[in-house]
Amino acid sequence: MITSKYFSEKEFNRCTPSCSLQDMNQDFMNKLDKLRELSGIPLVINSAFRSVQYEKTKGRNGTSAHVSGVAIDIRCNDSQNRFKVLEGALKLGFRRIGVANSFIHLDISKKHAQNVVWTY
Ligand SMILES: [Zn+2]
Repeated sequence: MITSKYFSEKEFNRCTPSCSLQDMNQDFMNKLDKLRELSGIPLVINSAFRSVQYEKTKGRNGTSAHVSGVAIDIRCNDSQNRFKVLEGALKLGFRRIGVANSFIHLDISKKHAQNVVWTY
């Protein structure tokens, strides 16, 4: 059973696409809980686990870290919160970060390039 100190099942149910905390990787959730503590702000989840099938309906190849339950998109649309999330993520050793206007993607996939920050 996958557990989290700060993130409830409901938060996964209402993200896009709807998923479950049980779809997530425990090590990743532990890191996310630490990020919540370090950043000191509520972290709203836009997107978490996504099935390969879902990715393909969106025209993607289905190899995203989201399909392994080791990725998250955190809603973030102001510069101060963006800084807090990024500062925490770097301190915690996240090696894969995507920065969009309205969210920050974090994942711990080892199958993808490490030490990268990309934009959308
Ligand atoms: Zn993402």
